[in-house]
Amino acid sequence: MRGVRRGMMGRSHALSGWCAGLAVAPLVGLTTVAEVVPFAAATAGYALLPDLDHPGASASRLLGPVTRLVSGAVRAFSGVLYNLTKGPRDEEGTGKHRHATHTLVAAVLLGFLAATLGDRGKWAVLAVAVTGLVLAADALGDWIVIAVLAAAGWSVIGAGPADAVQTGLTQIGGWIGAAVAVGMFVHCLGDSLTRSGCPWLWPLPIRGETWYEIRLPKPFRFSTGHWFEHAIIVPILTIAGVLLLPGGIQVVQRLFDATSVWLAGQS
Ligand SMILES: [Zn+2]
Repeated sequence: MRGVRRGMMGRSHALSGWCAGLAVAPLVGLTTVAEVVPFAAATAGYALLPDLDHPGASASRLLGPVTRLVSGAVRAFSGVLYNLTKGPRDEEGTGKHRHATHTLVAAVLLGFLAATLGDRGKWAVLAVAVTGLVLAADALGDWIVIAVLAAAGWSVIGAGPADAVQTGLTQIGGWIGAAVAVGMFVHCLGDSLTRSGCPWLWPLPIRGETWYEIRLPKPFRFSTGHWFEHAIIVPILTIAGVLLLPGGIQVVQRLFDATSVWLAGQS
């Protein structure tokens, strides 16, 4: 993600959102691959949303002038909130990037909003889910759209077309709030691993700051696009993103067993 300095790259955020989605899915009652994949795709997408407060982020560039306008509004809001609530020892800054959208409060609030969308109509739910998917595809590639469509088709198989849409939207309505909240919060945790840190405990006052940047001790921090992120974080998250799928570990175990048997047969 060009332009978003010092925070994590978009791909790392999306991958960690995907992994968190897979890990959390059983808690919201999703257990099969067909149920889990759309949920994890949504958490992956919403793990990119907080950077809407940066003009260079993929979330801000996604739909050209439309998202740029939203990004501008979000930045302005964040700046106002920062100035209204900053503590005596908070830094002199604009408070636009990595502030309002990078908090646990924002994650819970937007998650709650998304969770209650079902009352306002199923299409609102679909819009939120599609937004998540488009964001995820932008960072991870189009394979995620195909995976989600296949999963969605599988989970409503056997129902008539009208029923299938209704059933699908009701299912999404049941978890979309959790996906938004988990995705946004995982983004905060990701930024906390980097040099900049992330003030996600706002408005809790810590050492005179209400926007206290939570981050790792100095030796463990890394900066974005650093070899460490490319060579360690992204591969680890990719492997976890496969192993965390339902049955993922068993499949790898079986492959491993089969390979050992084959190798034993060769010697
Ligand atoms: Zn960020």
